[in-house]
Amino acid sequence: MEVTTLKNSDLSKDPVIGQMSLHNHEQILFCNDNATGLKAIIAIHNTVLGPSLGGTRMWNYANEMEALTDVLRLSRGMTYKSSVAGLNLGGGKAVIIGDAKNIKSEALLRRFGKFVNSLGGKYITAEDVAMTSRDMEIIKMETDHVSGLPENMGGSGDPSPVTAYGVYVSMKASAKEVWGNDSLSGKKVLVQGIGHVGEVLVSHLTKEGATVYINDISQERLKAVADKYKVEVVAADKMFDLDIDVYAPCALGATVNNDTLSRLKCKIICGAANNQLADENVHGLLVAKSGILYAPDFVVNAGGIINVYYELEGYNRERALAHAEKIYDTTYNLFQLAKKENIPTYQAANKLGEQRIEAIARINAVL
Ligand code: NAD
Repeated sequence: MEVTTLKNSDLSKDPVIGQMSLHNHEQILFCNDNATGLKAIIAIHNTVLGPSLGGTRMWNYANEMEALTDVLRLSRGMTYKSSVAGLNLGGGKAVIIGDAKNIKSEALLRRFGKFVNSLGGKYITAEDVAMTSRDMEIIKMETDHVSGLPENMGGSGDPSPVTAYGVYVSMKASAKEVWGNDSLSGKKVLVQGIGHVGEVLVSHLTKEGATVYINDISQERLKAVADKYKVEVVAADKMFDLDIDVYAPCALGATVNNDTLSRLKCKIICGAANNQLADENVHGLLVAKSGILYAPDFVVNAGGIINVYYELEGYNRERALAHAEKIYDTTYNLFQLAKKENIPTYQAANKLGEQRIEAIARINAVL
């Protein structure tokens, strides 16, 4: 994408449009309502492929600039995620500033819903950190531009099984790239985080005959999943030194960093967590140099957004799963692009996202 920044852009003098122009964001809506205490920012990064979609995050940011930077970064990420997943969606995101425990109320959420509605469908919201499907029901009282509703409201419900399926097929595509065939039978896989996505992934892997190791901070989850699938628990201080074939981060971000890269013995990193590379530019290169194949997180975990997309069309889980299955080809193709252009896999993924947006922008320009 051609990026035109403000001339001599100085972010201390141009902290808003200057920052928007760095990555060509289209629009920002700043929302304030003293009566309910609502302070929110809705960022629309790109709508070439369709309306922007991305969750609303509630977070006690230290200041407005931190909130603005976060919403700009997250909305841009959504553009790439949807583009690479082949969805007709653009990238957007919203943040509500404040501690959910103290400020969340029906009135605040409905006021926020009115702001979402004022954008006329250019932004569609969904759940994110500190928001629940019940909150989406409340927002829906004021706008139809909401997704991720519970199944009993005609929504798509929990996206985790679709996300986990996408991670599983992506791991198989990675196996094909590394070992020449996509069987995970007999491969040793470490799954870090056995929550909603991690557990379903463990189920797919054990069914295929992989040897699975699990780690989680919840002893309760560890016991439940170890008993159910007969898999081995590993301690946090040992897991990155294990002799494994695949590391699947399914808990939190930034676990691919200087420390873990000096210890990991795997051939593949492929998991559901967002922002796995502690620093994309540093660790995206380092991981490639260390001979580990990194399946980019936003490609691998696109099942969540795919699930929500099918809610907009009248939900059907089979169609969502069939679309998630395409993540296999997408992952495999991006590895070929990375090899052909001699670039790290995360850069190949970004390139795929940009290529699709540019191609569709060109046909949109045809009368
Ligand atoms: P979840 O909250 O259900 O599960 C996360 C698990 O990780 C929990 O069991 C938690 O105890 C564990 N955990 C937290 N910190 C940990 C640590 N330091 N070490 C080990 N375990 C730890 O979340 P989820 O829905 O399964 O999502 C997992 C990851 O995938 C998250 O990063 C999420 O953002 C990402 N993701 C999820 C979806 C989805 O559809 N649910 C879609 C895209 C991305």
